[in-house]
Amino acid sequence: MTSPTTVPSIRLTGGVPIPQFGFGVFGIEPDRTADAVALALDAGYRHIDTAQMYRNEQGVGAGIKKSGVPREEVFVTTKLANDAQGHDNAITALEGSLRRLGTDYVDLYLIHWPLPAKDRYVKTWQAFDEILKAGKARAIGVSNFSPAHLDRLAGETGAVPSVNQIELHPYLQQAELRRYHEEHGIATEAWSPIAQGEVLGDEVVTRIAAAHGRTAAQVVLRWHLALGHIVFPKSSSPERIRENIDVFGFALSDEDMRALGGLDRGRRTGPDPETFDG
Ligand code: NDP
Repeated sequence: MTSPTTVPSIRLTGGVPIPQFGFGVFGIEPDRTADAVALALDAGYRHIDTAQMYRNEQGVGAGIKKSGVPREEVFVTTKLANDAQGHDNAITALEGSLRRLGTDYVDLYLIHWPLPAKDRYVKTWQAFDEILKAGKARAIGVSNFSPAHLDRLAGETGAVPSVNQIELHPYLQQAELRRYHEEHGIATEAWSPIAQGEVLGDEVVTRIAAAHGRTAAQVVLRWHLALGHIVFPKSSSPERIRENIDVFGFALSDEDMRALGGLDRGRRTGPDPETFDG
């Protein structure tokens, strides 16, 4: 087991600390989620990333209860469903999440996708700001937003998201977006941090893994941590859940970082946020 205290935290704008390493539950069957979450918490995770669209928030809540870890020691993120954008819907949808999670606040509430063709994200963001002020979310942010979307939010509402959760891994390094985040104090969260397994057979990754006596997944996750990204790999396997968080006992060299930095090829595993319409 990894001690939760060895996982560093990043302070979000507004001062809320977020554990840099968490557990993603996209694709975990609703009736298996409670066990997976309880196992992850037992292995030292203290940050769970779910979403209304994953249909497993109830399992997340049940898993936290089952683990015996106090609610306030777990950082819980959920995301607004695409069909619930708009001011009033965003507020009602959060009430549903809180009920399913069995809690009266989330640590982080995200707009899941910008859906530019629907053009509702600015109104949605105004509701998020109210949710923050009402204390129902300790922090608010977005996911899959581009610099143009982020500029528009700040310009029209004055409220800057504390987080942007984006697809990010060695094959899609998103340099421009990460630079924008740094300039605006937005924390970068990396979804599909191991590209759903696609990068694990890369010979650069496997060579570095062999040199450190680590697995390919551990090397890629360590690369993210060194760059300051927040990560939450998903696994349904107890062994891999433990393996993934066991990344705090080694470090990559500058040469390793350069070699991994050279793998960028602009390859997405998921949809393009500019055209994805939910
Ligand atoms: P990941 O990059 O985390 O990869 C998960 C896949 O890799 C699964 O097939 C898993 O299989 C496998 N895997 C996990 N660990 C290992 C390992 N150590 N060795 C070999 N294979 C491994 O992809 P996800 O897309 O799940 O992304 C992670 C999280 O990001 C999601 O769970 C979700 O919380 C979030 N996300 C957010 C999105 C957004 O739009 N905001 C979109 C997509 C994801 P197995 O289960 O069999 O171990």
